[in-house]
Amino acid sequence: MASVLLVEDDPVIRSALIEVLSAHGHVVHSASHGFEALREVTQRPPDVVVLDLGLPDLDGTDVLRMLRGISQVPVVVATARDDDAQVIKLLNAGADDYVVKPFSGGQLAARLGAVLRRTSARSAAAFPQGAEGANAPRNGAIPATPRVIQVGDLQVDPAARTAHLAGHELRLTRREFDLLAYLAAHADQVVSRRRILADVWRQPYVEDQTIDVHLSALRRKLGERASQPRYLHTVRGIGIKLVAPR
Ligand code: CA
Repeated sequence: MASVLLVEDDPVIRSALIEVLSAHGHVVHSASHGFEALREVTQRPPDVVVLDLGLPDLDGTDVLRMLRGISQVPVVVATARDDDAQVIKLLNAGADDYVVKPFSGGQLAARLGAVLRRTSARSAAAFPQGAEGANAPRNGAIPATPRVIQVGDLQVDPAARTAHLAGHELRLTRREFDLLAYLAAHADQVVSRRRILADVWRQPYVEDQTIDVHLSALRRKLGERASQPRYLHTVRGIGIKLVAPR
């Protein structure tokens, strides 16, 4: 028996799955929206999450990434397409398994059983004392082998957590450094605010202004202004891009 959080906005599918999973002995809670699911995971941590990707408020992949910022709970994704690229993206974003719609309740129950067996074996092996484990952060935003990133005169060392501009060390707060390192790791790409929330803040409940406050602090420390950007460029309505000044 496990506690299952079922995230599905279609009421017909939801009640059918609740019925089947309950019949397999699981205790099922449900959510119909992404934010609701994230709140539910923090308030009443389940043993496993079944996540439908087509939700009304958030893209399922973003829900998955935000979820990974706050929890290591196993996630089985329900996807409408059996598309290799999509599935790879989901597994990279932290899904443990997936089912392709339409699937039967029995098939889902079997997948859940397999994922639960696998993850309990894994956490028993990784944490024989039974401590830690569940809430250890997964470092999705930081490359596996951190290296020094050079963009123009800006040098960011994720391992040492230092940043230098033209040889002078920048005095950054923890979050300012995380934001700068993330943007530097994605130099020349426009990064959306949503991705920044998911990958740097790793939580869904952050005001838009929070990013702006940190951005303007970074700009000040980099010696530039939003009206005359050098490194940090805002692409209106899309996101933020860090580039080497010309
Ligand atoms: Ca849906």
